[in-house]
Amino acid sequence: MENSKKELKVKKKAVPLKGMMDNVMEQFNSAADHINLHPNIRKILSITNNEILVNFPVKMDNGNVEVFTGYRVQHNGALGPYKGGLRYHPTVDLDAARALAMWMTWKTSLAGLPYGGGKGGIKIDPSLYSQSELERITRRFTYALADNIGPEHDIPAPDVNTNSQTMAWIADTYMSTRPPALRSANQHVVTGKPDGSGGLEGRDRATGFGVYLTIKFWAERNDMDLSGKRFIVQGFGNVGYWASLFLEQDGAKLVGVQDAQGSIENQEGIDVENLFSYTQKKGGTVMDFPKSQLVDKNDFFAIDCDICIPAALGNQITKENAPRIKAKLIAEGANGPTNVEGEKILLERGIIIIPDILCNSGGVIGSYFEWLQNRSGEIWHLEEVLEKLRKKLNGSFNRVYNYAQNERVDLRTAAFCIAIQRIEKAYIQRGIFP
Ligand code: GLU
Repeated sequence: MENSKKELKVKKKAVPLKGMMDNVMEQFNSAADHINLHPNIRKILSITNNEILVNFPVKMDNGNVEVFTGYRVQHNGALGPYKGGLRYHPTVDLDAARALAMWMTWKTSLAGLPYGGGKGGIKIDPSLYSQSELERITRRFTYALADNIGPEHDIPAPDVNTNSQTMAWIADTYMSTRPPALRSANQHVVTGKPDGSGGLEGRDRATGFGVYLTIKFWAERNDMDLSGKRFIVQGFGNVGYWASLFLEQDGAKLVGVQDAQGSIENQEGIDVENLFSYTQKKGGTVMDFPKSQLVDKNDFFAIDCDICIPAALGNQITKENAPRIKAKLIAEGANGPTNVEGEKILLERGIIIIPDILCNSGGVIGSYFEWLQNRSGEIWHLEEVLEKLRKKLNGSFNRVYNYAQNERVDLRTAAFCIAIQRIEKAYIQRGIFP
């Protein structure tokens, strides 16, 4: 009975995010055209290096066994170990993992990190499972991935519906399956761990802080004062919450929020901390938050505002809603939130997009700091971490912004060109074995 209810619910929710690969390939190819990328390198980068699919059984709380499907796609490792999150969501499939792995390759390259790109996850709706079931699912997934991950080979991190607890289970399982003398030398097999277990202070807010910083850097370049600016956020998870909090601290006003359950608006401003504590009491949703109006799901992106932050899933800004967007600036907290048709409309309308591979790169930069910390045995404190992050993101932002101005291209094309050129250089220097 319990099982069949779960299956029904999963089926209903599992609408694939169509066309993620089309999006990332279109973005890649248009930048590759711009830099006149060598056809051989274009061939290599158009395809993923390795794709791992695992089916694994897990015993549920009621004694029944369920079989889950997990993925890990390693797109390109020219610059270093594969790096990228694990997502637990009904939309996870090979196509989504491939596209998200490719975005990671561009993201780590743009940030100047010694990493390639990977991504994966489990096709699952985690809200249907207990904590102890999720723990067993995670541990068994880690075991099934076996040596396809590793601290110098492929380093997962949190993504949609996974968090520091998930990473702690992965680290513990991975370390427990190594020879005793190598256990603690392997704790950096994942990043985004809790800060008592090898995690980085501030990794929780790194992505949202980075989203806020890229908005702030753009505002500084364009003489825009963030104080009084109205913003809307799609997704009030880790990224949406922290980005909103930092923007609010700078005097900006949250006027609309959408989550998987629905959308709310209040042009007078929504207090970020109040909303967060409300969602904690209401099982995670923003629905029916006092002093806010409900907004139809299809009207969310049309809410009157200055800045729009899609911080949930991919393919959310499309040709259907792009013509009605009021914001002048879109900051992509999510990966791939704007599809190609939607982007075309936004650019024609003169709306600026801070692209995902720059905007949300604070997360993987934080992961890099955690990985370095684990390797060196150092421990950095919050202020130091946030300052290092600010410096690194400022460098990336300036490179992208200046490139866009000099080459007269949009920010996404600029970010992709810089990212691809760094990988191109590695291939040219090394050649191809044999
Ligand atoms: N999942 C995050 C992203 O999409 C973080 C990846 C990481 O830290 O490796 O960028």
